[in-house]
Amino acid sequence: MTASASQGASSISSSSIKRDASEMNNMVTMTTRLDANATVRGRRRPPLSRRQRGNLSTLLSRRSPFSNETGSLAIGEFEPSAAPSVDGVARSSLRDARILVVGAGGLGCEILKDLAMCDGIFVDIVVMDLDTIDVTNLNRQFLFRSKDVGDSKAAVAAKFINQRCPWMNVVPYHGKIQDKDASFYRQFKVVISGLDNVEARSITSENPIPTLLLPNRWLNGMINNLVEFDDDGDPLPETIIPLIDGGTEGFSGQSRLILPRITSCFECSLDAFAPSAAVPLCTIAETPRIPEHCIAYAYVLQWPREFPDRKLDADSSGDMKWVYERALERAEKFGIGGVTYMLTLGVVKNIIPAVASTNAIVSAVCVNEAMKALSFCSQSLNTYMMYMGSEGIYSHTFVYEQKQNCPVCTTTTHHMSVSSIMTLNSLLQQLCDGEFRLKAPSVTSSMKTLYMRKPVALEKVTRVNLDKPLKDLMTSGEELVVTDPVFPDTSLRLVVKFTDVDE
Ligand SMILES: [Zn+2]
Repeated sequence: MTASASQGASSISSSSIKRDASEMNNMVTMTTRLDANATVRGRRRPPLSRRQRGNLSTLLSRRSPFSNETGSLAIGEFEPSAAPSVDGVARSSLRDARILVVGAGGLGCEILKDLAMCDGIFVDIVVMDLDTIDVTNLNRQFLFRSKDVGDSKAAVAAKFINQRCPWMNVVPYHGKIQDKDASFYRQFKVVISGLDNVEARSITSENPIPTLLLPNRWLNGMINNLVEFDDDGDPLPETIIPLIDGGTEGFSGQSRLILPRITSCFECSLDAFAPSAAVPLCTIAETPRIPEHCIAYAYVLQWPREFPDRKLDADSSGDMKWVYERALERAEKFGIGGVTYMLTLGVVKNIIPAVASTNAIVSAVCVNEAMKALSFCSQSLNTYMMYMGSEGIYSHTFVYEQKQNCPVCTTTTHHMSVSSIMTLNSLLQQLCDGEFRLKAPSVTSSMKTLYMRKPVALEKVTRVNLDKPLKDLMTSGEELVVTDPVFPDTSLRLVVKFTDVDE
């Protein structure tokens, strides 16, 4: 089976793995069919006609009783565009809107296809991805073929779309989102993020804050940062770039609309990514209820007892068979069914299957929101849509509230009370472990640089401060400015008060 490796085993269920397999078979058939359509006797087929790809101009050229201004998140007024021009495509202002698609993986492929199928309304696209194509991507990332394995996802995806849909102009960028600065991001009218959250959410006990979550946080920080304010402190509408964030995990997915400084942002919901997936060890040891608990028992507790000097190798079939057999024994003892070798692999390797249909649903919602955010032709999503497809089909929409003191989308000063003898290093550690979940903070006071990670020379000079108590570096109630790679071009204002000092 093909799946993306990830942590967070508790979200796996044996049924989802089985269903994934049949899903994949369908997908393979579908991909083959698409391929067959693309060429007729070696010759490329002509592009799809407008009738084949639907007609969104109808929607955009007529008045609507459900336009954006009648919705609960009213952000703009819908103005039906003029009648279709000579080439049959409405000369909507949307055609000039440059769109950024972040990620050309499972979601990215779907998003690009959906944009291309929007009746020629979106043509100017930039797609970014730092990954290359792996053979395991081919079952669902349908813009790629076996000959493309090893090539840049962004480049191949862009080429495929441009060839198949000549009205499209997709420009690839193979690299990290962090390579680009504010001036790059400012050129877009909307950003759709389809980062593979499966991997992005990988959480381990050693690393409770997934590093791969970093791109999502960074992008969110950047887009929020681009907002400029008028004299009254209100955000200037033309500087607000809607960020539409999609994510999938097996049969579940979500899509959300982030209007920087208006709605909640990605950082506001960071708590939702807390490592809550862990099953208490006592449950595993004493009261297993589901097959996953039995498997966890075998590899977390039994393996080290049996092989104290050898680490379990999840890629060794011998090791995995051992775990599977022990898990099966335990499951039988407790009358629990459902332990399979596949599930054992899934739990130990923390595999969450990537499901093509979930990607299709989530990306369709994303592109739908992009069209609404640009044209205001219908009510925007307010603000979060979740989809669950593991047991039936269920979706739900709710307003994700803005976090009162979100360091990204609010401009509050944060307060911390600590002991004056706490070292600077401990304070920085607290910023990493605590609610801010920083990665590599640097800190300055109004008077001097306390600790700076870059450049190397400055790091060397300021390193001595790390072991000093705070009272030697600052006064109680002083405002510190904290910068961190998760917040591009922005800083956290932090007032630190000493609990043991009278002012
Ligand atoms: Zn926020």
